[in-house]
Amino acid sequence: MNHHETLLPRPEEIRREVEEFLRKKYGPTGINISAVGQPDVLHTDGEGQNPKDTPPDIHFDLKPIDIKAHLDRYVISQDDAKKVLATAICDHYNHIMHCSKTGECQDYAKQNIILVGPTGVGKTYLVRTLAELVGVPFVKGDATKYSETGYVGGDVEDLVRELVDKAGGNLRLAEYGIIYLDEVDKLATTTNLFGRDVSGHGVQRGLLKLMEETEVPLRSPTDMASQLQAAMDYQAKGKVERKTINTRHIMFIVSGAFTGLTDIIRKRLGGTQIGFMGGDHTATENPAEALSQAKATDFMDYGFEAEFVGRLPIIAVCRPLTVDDLYKILKESAGSIIRQYVAAFKAYDVEAIFTDEGLRCLAEKAYKEQTGARSLVGICERTLRDYKYELPNTTVKQFAVDAALVKDPCEVLQKILTAPGYNETQVGAELVERYEKAFADKYHIRLRFSTDAIAAIVQRAKETGQSPAQVCDQLFHDYEYGLTLIHKKTGCSEFQVTREVLQDPVGALDQWIRKSYTSDS
Ligand code: ADP
Repeated sequence: MNHHETLLPRPEEIRREVEEFLRKKYGPTGINISAVGQPDVLHTDGEGQNPKDTPPDIHFDLKPIDIKAHLDRYVISQDDAKKVLATAICDHYNHIMHCSKTGECQDYAKQNIILVGPTGVGKTYLVRTLAELVGVPFVKGDATKYSETGYVGGDVEDLVRELVDKAGGNLRLAEYGIIYLDEVDKLATTTNLFGRDVSGHGVQRGLLKLMEETEVPLRSPTDMASQLQAAMDYQAKGKVERKTINTRHIMFIVSGAFTGLTDIIRKRLGGTQIGFMGGDHTATENPAEALSQAKATDFMDYGFEAEFVGRLPIIAVCRPLTVDDLYKILKESAGSIIRQYVAAFKAYDVEAIFTDEGLRCLAEKAYKEQTGARSLVGICERTLRDYKYELPNTTVKQFAVDAALVKDPCEVLQKILTAPGYNETQVGAELVERYEKAFADKYHIRLRFSTDAIAAIVQRAKETGQSPAQVCDQLFHDYEYGLTLIHKKTGCSEFQVTREVLQDPVGALDQWIRKSYTSDS
């Protein structure tokens, strides 16, 4: 028996209550509330081409490779998943464009997707970024919500209604949106205990209906407020507006960690590998490799119904993130949280300078928590919380977030507070390194600064009140031309900058140029 039968009033009861309420308030109205929430005859106009098939605001002309390139800017790693998703999204929206142009919409199996992967590795981020790129509304739901409260007829349909909200009330745009349902693995019936089976089964059925094609009433038949609103609209407009959302073109992406799925795959692969000499055992040893070989039947063995899996023909796998991935998320991704910190300190006129070692240390700490990139936010917050509080009240204008600071933020903060120039050298060294990198990016020539050269630049910057980059600009303003010349003659693209070079940069360059000529003769 469904839980909602005992917990919530039935739609008919709600209707009766609303009618009763209106009768009391306005006297006999003649409103037939039972019409509210039923399929809209105007909206689904029968056979032939349906005007609602013309997507209102979608102009899709992307190629999978463009989508992947866009995702790469935001999401680190997950190359396989990006390719699979990019291709599926292109197929899906190209098909929609084809339908709208030709009116032919037959013979197409929608490319709904199962996205497998542990928590915090970018599954939601990928789908959200995709939806933004395509310009369609995106809704995220959690499958456990439905299994825990018991399956309620309209619950999964709420996701579809939410799309309309996300589309700013644009019902047609909502019909081309993306629904992302996380923790779907919890709906597997065989892995659940006791009463959970029933709800898992129920939600699978409900989702199946949505994934196939159905008309979802814009107003929930079980939601009193919606029904009241419908009645009010009737009062105002004199007619009952009946609208539905068709789910034919809505893309469904379901995801979960699917713990235990690797064992099922390994068992299957192990079985088929018997008799093969020297077969590839990577898949049976490495969990990520095993998952990349997941097939529909594995999900059925996991506890999903065949029809449900049948509606999810695409399988994409996200891998656990390594320390290096986490470092890249901080250093390179367009959505990096580090930018937020830099901006937050900047508001107090304090420059937070994150060194590579500092970022790596943050990544290592986050990795230990085993929640993917999720822990990065918490780690950064815990590391820099006191700095945000204390530094705005000091004369400190710059500080380096280096390995020492990340390892022991309290101790370093105390040192900075008692001696504001405490990590000046680290700041200077990082800024010289950035100059070095910018020079290499611009001229393809690497200046390698020795440790004492860096210290001398930092010292000079301090004495003259300039930034290390300004000091470097003055010292090496002729270097671009001279070094490019040498590079062309000898192919040499790396130059050691020592303390001696700093004492006479022009003389040093001169000598290098001479040497390049003599080595030539
Ligand atoms: P899940 O895989 O559980 O859906 P999310 O996509 O919600 O994880 O990740 C949480 C947050 O962590 C994202 O909003 C994003 O800021 C960051 N993140 C996770 N994975 C990546 C990644 N591969 N590249 C860049 N940022 C990521």
